[in-house]
Amino acid sequence: MDFELPEELRMLKETVRRFVDREIIPIEREAYDGHKMKPDVRKHLEAKAQEIGLWNYDVPEEYGGQGMGMLARCVIWEEMGRTIAIPTRGGGIFGPAVSPILYYLNEEQKKKYLYPVIEGKRWGCFMQTEPDAGGDPGGMRTTAVRHGDHYVINGYKRFITGADRADFAQVLAATDRAKGSRGGISAFLVDMDTPGVKLVRPQETMMDDRPWEIALEDVKVPVENRIGEEGEGFKFGQRWITAGRMRHAARGVGVAERCMELAGAYAPQRVTFGAPLADRQAVQFMLVDSWMETKAARLMVYETAWRFDKGDEVRSESYMCKIMGDELAFRVCDKAMQIHGGIGLTKDLPIEKLWRDSRSMVITEGPPEILRMVLARQFFREYGGSNR
Ligand SMILES: Cc1cc2nc3c(=O)[nH]c(=O)nc-3n(C[C@H](O)[C@H](O)[C@H](O)COP(=O)(O)OP(=O)(O)OC[C@H]3O[C@@H](n4cnc5c(N)ncnc54)[C@H](O)[C@@H]3O)c2cc1C
Repeated sequence: MDFELPEELRMLKETVRRFVDREIIPIEREAYDGHKMKPDVRKHLEAKAQEIGLWNYDVPEEYGGQGMGMLARCVIWEEMGRTIAIPTRGGGIFGPAVSPILYYLNEEQKKKYLYPVIEGKRWGCFMQTEPDAGGDPGGMRTTAVRHGDHYVINGYKRFITGADRADFAQVLAATDRAKGSRGGISAFLVDMDTPGVKLVRPQETMMDDRPWEIALEDVKVPVENRIGEEGEGFKFGQRWITAGRMRHAARGVGVAERCMELAGAYAPQRVTFGAPLADRQAVQFMLVDSWMETKAARLMVYETAWRFDKGDEVRSESYMCKIMGDELAFRVCDKAMQIHGGIGLTKDLPIEKLWRDSRSMVITEGPPEILRMVLARQFFREYGGSNR
């Protein structure tokens, strides 16, 4: 048994850490203009990312990317989690955000949608969530009804990240509402300028994300824009969901790490009642608990990622990692904020932004209650005795 990261991943981790420390952290508080990264900052960081050889690290080699494995990606996500300048959802600085669903398109579709995204010429967004169907998308009300050579989509979507800059959307819609998530949902490629696609309003959130509400009114989509077969809409999601969970988890470890760095530096120099905070047991316990929990979560993330790369089935473990990583990040961040007192609440420090983002990550892409519900089924399969 060997718990060391392989040499090339240790070097990768150091490279990303140096990049984050030298290029990003010094400008992280000024990197954004409202909700968007300033174009000159993005350009500068993207050029640097290319320079250090990390461009398209998660795009498979057959499409011209680096095709890095899960453990390598987790190492990158962890280090990127240490700064507030990298968006928590979509649109990083190491290449265009390629929705993994696009790799399942047929060749004709790839020419129109996948390759231009990889080249940075087109942008996509993902439309699943609805007012009445979020954590339980099987209950979605948006329908796609077939009429000969095309479908007509009607419905309402919300919380759609990047819809305002997208050229097209991957839309999930019910082709058989009675079947729901068991074969009743299909996926479609819909150009955003198709008549009937309406950006209704941006949703202001406590984070800097600004997802959109979208109305789909009699949107005519050719049959050739369906992804896969009718009823396969969820199948594609399931294939990449593990990567999404692991990204949350690894990012959470990075957030916790940064918060410990901040609190660890602050506690020895902040004096109250004649002694530094670092001398107070109450503060020491907060930091030591954070340290232990971060170490445990990191090990779990690395081990799950390593198993994934070996080809093991790690669906349950990835759920556990997401819960651990997201909850860890928020808990450690909250403690760092407490230790900093009032200054931790100000925008002079990154803690308040890490705190807001981390709180939101616990809810999106699978709230912990839903993940625990799914895990409970697996738990009883493993521990529930022979009669279950
Ligand atoms: C900033 C942001 C960006 C997003 N981007 C996108 C995007 O690009 N595309 C997209 O399609 N969606 C997107 N989403 C939607 C996001 O994935 C959903 O908000 C999330 O899945 C939760 O759905 P919901 O808000 O409808 O919560 P609900 O499903 O209504 O759940 C609400 C709460 O109820 C509890 N709960 C739910 N079910 C159970 C249960 N079975 N047992 C116990 N408790 C339960 C949980 O605590 C949960 O947090 C985004 C959301 C946000 C906030």
